[in-house]
Amino acid sequence: TMAQSKALLVLENFIGGKFVPCSSYIDSYNPSTGDVYCKVPDSGKEEVEAAVQAAKDAFPIWSSKSPLERSQILNKLADLIEHDLEAFAQAESKDQGKTITFARTVDIPRAAYNFRFFASSILHHVTECTEMATMGCMHYTLRTPVGVAGLISPWNLPLYLLTWKIAPAIACGNTVVAKPSEMTSVTAWMMCKLLEKAGVPHGVVNIVFGTGAKAGEALVCHPDVPLISFTGSTLTAQRITEKSAPHCKRLSLELGGKNPAIIFDDADLSQCIPTTLRSSFANQGEICLCTSRIFVQRGIYNEFLKRFVEEAKKWKTGNPSDPTVNVGALISKEHLEKIRNYVKKAQAEGARVLCGEGVDSLALPPGNQKGYFMLPTVIAEVKDESCCMQEEIFGPVTCVVAFDTEEEVIKRANGVKYGLAATIWSSNMGRVHRVARRLQSGLVWTNCWLVRDLNLPFGGMKASGIGREGAKDSYEFFTEVKTITIKH
Ligand code: NAD
Repeated sequence: TMAQSKALLVLENFIGGKFVPCSSYIDSYNPSTGDVYCKVPDSGKEEVEAAVQAAKDAFPIWSSKSPLERSQILNKLADLIEHDLEAFAQAESKDQGKTITFARTVDIPRAAYNFRFFASSILHHVTECTEMATMGCMHYTLRTPVGVAGLISPWNLPLYLLTWKIAPAIACGNTVVAKPSEMTSVTAWMMCKLLEKAGVPHGVVNIVFGTGAKAGEALVCHPDVPLISFTGSTLTAQRITEKSAPHCKRLSLELGGKNPAIIFDDADLSQCIPTTLRSSFANQGEICLCTSRIFVQRGIYNEFLKRFVEEAKKWKTGNPSDPTVNVGALISKEHLEKIRNYVKKAQAEGARVLCGEGVDSLALPPGNQKGYFMLPTVIAEVKDESCCMQEEIFGPVTCVVAFDTEEEVIKRANGVKYGLAATIWSSNMGRVHRVARRLQSGLVWTNCWLVRDLNLPFGGMKASGIGREGAKDSYEFFTEVKTITIKH
């Protein structure tokens, strides 16, 4: 019936292996229609306390399992997510606004792969051993799980980034209390339904839904949660650092970016243009790794700009569940307004908006008129000091500017507070190595974008973060190391 089809989805916390209702709820919107469609628990101290207790109770048994036993359970969970891939993808697209195509091909496959990857990598770590023959001693190191890990994730890649933390944390033998973004909680809740079937014991994974200010801070301030892995904005990370300081917590912080693409005049534009469009506009530009400053060498600047804008205009914006759509809805009305204001400020400063917001008109299907949509927007002639070239916009907006020399572009690329990811386009390998070494950036892609080997470190410099994630890095973060000396 109509009434039933309009019934709201109501999520519950998942604590100690059980779904637990909450006393109050937050509205969650479908970004492509502007309708409230889901109620998310508005958890606070009490719910976090119960979840931490459940995680503490589960720790002795889980941490004493062998890596192989844990590995088999993680693999089973990966199988179950893959089995439900389509349902997860539909839910992620509806909840977040991203296109169904992106959810199907990126978010959900990667969420499953995160479990598979750490199920494998946990089997391959070895610790160190040294000898001091003259003292009759040998030393070795041991790594043991830390305890209850607090995991806090953002709304842009909901299940993808949450599982990127849960998988290594539990593979190492920790138990966890996770808090997804209050704006995108549905797929985390769906995953809870698979945990028992995968063989994850009760209390190993607890999920508490709610806002950052209430549920997030309760987790950050809980004395029995010795480590916090956080992905989100730099501002929130500062707050988390302050709040956790009295407890001397171990923090891993994956934060924002203002990522440059540097395009030299010997770049292969037939590769560079489509990839730079993706790096600017994929997932509506709501990826921490998205390019938002494009530096193009003077000799090819006009040609690049013309071809780039022509191609950007071909990106179709609209209903995320339409498989031909490239750009879905932004996360919220507030976020859309914030991004529009950046474009307005750029215009007021004399920059030229070449396509998209305020320039081209956006025709939306009737059902999506109240959704939070914005066309891919390209801005040129922006000053390096402009807020559009300095601050993270986190939407489908990219700035294109010209440069002359290698020395100059390195300085300008490094001239922001962030240092997450950079992209270099050139066929001169000597130059690629020289520039890559000097960029202040945790990741440098050359002649490609977003090609990741999960074995290697991921993370940012400067205001983009503290710590790295990856096979070895996550293992080190989620374990305590101890040095043992034996005299014989
Ligand atoms: P956000 O910082 O607003 O929120 C992230 C998470 O922190 C959410 O779960 C939120 O509820 C919680 N939170 C908010 N205030 C809190 C507090 N006081 N205490 C504890 N938790 C709190 O970020 P967002 O808007 O959800 O995500 C977008 C940001 O995330 C962008 O800056 C983006 O660059 C960044 N990001 C970084 C990476 C990376 O790997 N470096 C990946 C994705 C997104």
